[in-house]
Amino acid sequence: MSRFAFVNGRYLPYRHAAVHIEDRGYQFADGVYEVCEVREGRIVDERRHLQRLSRSLGELRIPPPMAPRALGFVLRETVRLNRVRDGLLYLQVTRGVARREHAFPPAGTRPSLVVTARARDRAKAERVAETGISVITLDDNRWQRVDIKTIALVPNVLARQTAREAGAAEAWFVDEAGFVTEGAASNAWIVTGEGALVTRPAEHGILRGITRTVVFEMAAASGLTIEERPFRVDEALQAREAFVTAATQIVMPVIKIDGTPIADGKPGPLARMLRARFHEAAEIGE
Ligand code: PLP
Repeated sequence: MSRFAFVNGRYLPYRHAAVHIEDRGYQFADGVYEVCEVREGRIVDERRHLQRLSRSLGELRIPPPMAPRALGFVLRETVRLNRVRDGLLYLQVTRGVARREHAFPPAGTRPSLVVTARARDRAKAERVAETGISVITLDDNRWQRVDIKTIALVPNVLARQTAREAGAAEAWFVDEAGFVTEGAASNAWIVTGEGALVTRPAEHGILRGITRTVVFEMAAASGLTIEERPFRVDEALQAREAFVTAATQIVMPVIKIDGTPIADGKPGPLARMLRARFHEAAEIGE
């Protein structure tokens, strides 16, 4: 089946889809992105993702590439053209194309916008969730503004690769004080012996994940105890459960940290319940 990408105003066949070599995303990683889940042809939590995009753009002083309604149309059209039922939608905005110079390009330089969509095997993802994943821990060596969803992901790339080489699926970054910040591309959670959900506050040191927000609201509405506070690796090793959240993973049970099994080494009941009920709480598009 032919695939299409939206690139700066046009839907192009995938193999012809390209941006200029002077694009500031390519030159400086000077841009931001979003990833949304697509489920049964519908975009999950589009409103929240576009809100966060707008915040990220504002923090970097990149003008919006188009009005939110028009952008919403482009997202849906990209899903439709690619006939994605279950998969992922990717959107990237950079500061545009300009002669290479670190400081901002001249006012009026148009931001670049790229949107792609691809199908994923949902049954396979469910099978992974049935078993759970292993994570490793690594020093957090990222810059301080990880609250902005920038495309500058080299530390995350290296962390994921280190995890893969260690036979794990995710890396958890750990700050200088020994507290877990977040995953290379996910937010980190544990469940205490008393059954409380613990996740780091989203003010410092992490990206405010959309999945994290939805799980948080869902857990609160179900009457679960939530402690929004940092936790250390040794607390995680003693936890009753651990899991990660991300649009790409929904709620994914963690069964091992640095080779040590968490509880009985099987996905825990809370993580399973939150995963099973996630789409009742998320906003599902038209
Ligand atoms: N933290 C980082 C560093 C991420 O890259 C991601 C997602 O890619 C998340 C957290 C989870 O965010 P979301 O739930 O919005 O996908």
